[in-house]
Amino acid sequence: MSSASCSRTDGLLPLHDGVVYGPVTSRRLGVSLGVNILPPGRKVCSFNCVYCQYGWTDGAALHDLATLDWPAADGVVADVERRLEDLALAGTHVDRVTLAGHGEPTLHPDFPAIVEGLREARDRVAASSRIAILSNSSTAGDPRVRASLLRLDERYMKLDAGDQDTLRHVNATASRLDDIVRALASLSPIVVQAMFVRSPDGRVDNSSPGALAPWLGALATIRPAEVHIYSLDRVPAWRVLEAIPRARLAEIARAVEQRGFRAEVF
Ligand code: SF4
Repeated sequence: MSSASCSRTDGLLPLHDGVVYGPVTSRRLGVSLGVNILPPGRKVCSFNCVYCQYGWTDGAALHDLATLDWPAADGVVADVERRLEDLALAGTHVDRVTLAGHGEPTLHPDFPAIVEGLREARDRVAASSRIAILSNSSTAGDPRVRASLLRLDERYMKLDAGDQDTLRHVNATASRLDDIVRALASLSPIVVQAMFVRSPDGRVDNSSPGALAPWLGALATIRPAEVHIYSLDRVPAWRVLEAIPRARLAEIARAVEQRGFRAEVF
């Protein structure tokens, strides 16, 4: 069964209280079955993005990762396999099984076991489905995580900034940008996903020429298979944020293409 979600009245996306959600259909991922391996009802993330659709990160959770209420790896795999079987019986083809949910999935202590289990379940009941992840890239340099990321069929890796200041303003993380870029460069092939936003006071604006130049430089190092470009389409954690006009997103996509990489605006 797909998970129900904790209700919310503030316009932000509800947190999931189970593992499997959807499937949802999108231009980017097709029919995608979502897999949330974060603790039920609690956002756990190594980033605190100003635009996060799940609201602000609870920083305390990061200090105590091992003690959180993570769903067990075998339960995750069983839930996904059961849902894939149900969908197959109903005649629904799932294009992707996508690790995402309300936080950073690679923080799960048993992430490698989950990846291996999902691969086996997919092979048993949905052989033509691909296994994908939406990750914030913060753990891509960890050898254990990296090895498991490389076992997935598709990696959609976040990169909203090309300099440390912009990374701090947009993603509010202690991660080092240089480390992230180096790790992403070694994960080929990947799709870079980039969200562009600005605040009315201009303190946050990763679409500005000054922020864009180093971001394009980072892409040249990473050499992604494709770059997916977005702006806001949901209520963000920091309510004052503004979406970047579509015309500017198209300019950014052209700048990416001029450097030899495929780009698409969503
Ligand atoms: S990485 Fe994703 S889940 Fe984490 S704060 Fe940013 S948008 Fe939210």
